[in-house]
Amino acid sequence: MPFEELDLAAFAVCLTCGCLQGGVPREQRCRCQPRTPDWEQQWQGQDISSDLDLCVLCVRDTVTTRTRWSWLGCETCRHVSQVVGERYGHRSALPLGRHSIMNGDVVQPPAATATEVTGSLIAATRRWNALREWRQAEFDRLAEPLRATGPTVPLIEWQRRWPPSLGASVDAFDRYGAVPVPTDLSSLRQAQARFRSSAR
Ligand SMILES: [Zn+2]
Ligand SMILES: [Zn+2]
Repeated sequence: MPFEELDLAAFAVCLTCGCLQGGVPREQRCRCQPRTPDWEQQWQGQDISSDLDLCVLCVRDTVTTRTRWSWLGCETCRHVSQVVGERYGHRSALPLGRHSIMNGDVVQPPAATATEVTGSLIAATRRWNALREWRQAEFDRLAEPLRATGPTVPLIEWQRRWPPSLGASVDAFDRYGAVPVPTDLSSLRQAQARFRSSAR
């Protein structure tokens, strides 16, 4: 089913593990829910047994998760990562692709020696782990004020409380702190300033 046909209203955010659950006609489950053989069956032939997740960086917008080639970062976060990365002469600043090749940060033979390939793989794994840790911390920060309402919150409600925007993505990128957003990237800076003044 194409992403546009996914009914976002059928999903909820689990305030415990930070994954999405729900969806129709196939129900995806968060990490807290049991995974039965019947349930697994529905996802056969798909790399990853879910359709949708929250963005690894802003934790506000959604990403599709079906294949190992899917993005971990939403469109606006990828835009920020790319614009900043290109300024520093890279393809993108953060490894927002699920597969290392998507991030362009793993060197390949024959241009690189075996040691260089291993080194780049280790560095890529470290960067990826750091991003996972960030996602958990940022999720906890956003989930905290909602936890009193119950164990889950509808995705629509989550995004009403924490709307995705370019400014929110720049702000998350900035706080993530891997590389600074150059001050002369004024469109990004202005979006962030607008976001910060509205969040106050
Ligand atoms: Zn859960
Ligand atoms: Zn994002």
